Amino acid sequence: MRYLVLTDIHANLEALETCLSDAARRRYDKVLVLGDLIGYGADPNAVVDRVQALGPVGIVRGNHDKIALGMEEAEGFNLVARSAAQWTLDALTPANRQWLIDLPQGPCTIDDFIEICHGSPFDEDAYVFDELDARRSLKVSVRPLCLFGHTHYPMTFELAGAHFDAMGPAAASEARLHLRDDVKYLVNPGSVGQPRDGDPRAAYAIVDTDAKLVYLMRLIYPVENAQAKVIAAGLPEVLARRLAAGR
Ligand code: ZN
Repeated sequence: MRYLVLTDIHANLEALETCLSDAARRRYDKVLVLGDLIGYGADPNAVVDRVQALGPVGIVRGNHDKIALGMEEAEGFNLVARSAAQWTLDALTPANRQWLIDLPQGPCTIDDFIEICHGSPFDEDAYVFDELDARRSLKVSVRPLCLFGHTHYPMTFELAGAHFDAMGPAAASEARLHLRDDVKYLVNPGSVGQPRDGDPRAAYAIVDTDAKLVYLMRLIYPVENAQAKVIAAGLPEVLARRLAAGR
């Protein structure tokens, strides 16, 4: 089985379409979405429609998707995120808003091999950056491979017995992770629509459960188009700038 894995799209249609074209060329059977479809970008409805059309077999809500419940959910957001959240809430169609409200909370098991979550398997809103939280996630996860998002930072953590290892983002447009038996993995493919690792390229993954391989992709996409839409929508300008910086 080949799973296409998308996370943190953040209403960036240009980045999403670029990832989908690339993934179609590589082939996949099913789609997994790890949350944060909306927030920051100018195309919340188009992105929701596109994800719905993909018919994901696994999807969890992200903290930005919870904004569909109302602005109270933006409590922990900074000023820019709050402003984007209000814009998004006003822009969402009632049907898309309801669909987002109904998204399940992670973690969710997908098959015998994979589970998915937004932040971590112990807390959907936790940010997993360091060894402490990664170890805790690996301990709590109930499958050999746990896929997560939320940090917008591609990372792979692995636990083989007591041996812990961590790997950061790769510069290559395609990196491969070979999954070994008796090792637990925690993998963040990185953000489709708002990378924050200093690399503006869109990120996504394909997991091949038969070949025991994770392909981690980075793709150049039409950033200027996404930026122009952010500006034209009247969203905070800093959101357009950060797309080009990947921060
Ligand atoms: Zn996010």
